[in-house]
Amino acid sequence: MRERVVTMYYCGFCKKKGQRRHVMVRHEQTCMRNPLRQCGMCKAQYVEGTIAKLVDLLMSEGLVGLRSAVDDCPSCTVIAVNAALKAFHDKEPLVAVSESPAWYKEAVGYDYAGDKQQWWHEVNREQAAVYYGC
Ligand SMILES: [Zn+2]
Ligand SMILES: [Zn+2]
Repeated sequence: MRERVVTMYYCGFCKKKGQRRHVMVRHEQTCMRNPLRQCGMCKAQYVEGTIAKLVDLLMSEGLVGLRSAVDDCPSCTVIAVNAALKAFHDKEPLVAVSESPAWYKEAVGYDYAGDKQQWWHEVNREQAAVYYGC
């Protein structure tokens, strides 16, 4: 029989855990639940109030306004979308989608997975152009 005691590292913001310290340190820096994160996709550094500002923008100018503010970054977009939906539900839990504001319908319909795929597709294409000149 072998017995092994391992040290586990837990993200201070979400449920993720791991045995490699440096991996979890890096995860915490970009964790979607860290309000002071550095975005893992567009590298934007969040400060106090960043998410609240993005939520305001989404509610006042819709998905188009939000997306132009975050330079089309899917990760920053989905954070604002989720925070806005949560804030709205906390306040008005029983509102029907048909009676909800325009931004809400856009937010509910936001396709994060597809958007993320498209983003990486473009990043890879840009890098291929840099490395191989095509
Ligand atoms: Zn986390
Ligand atoms: Zn971002």
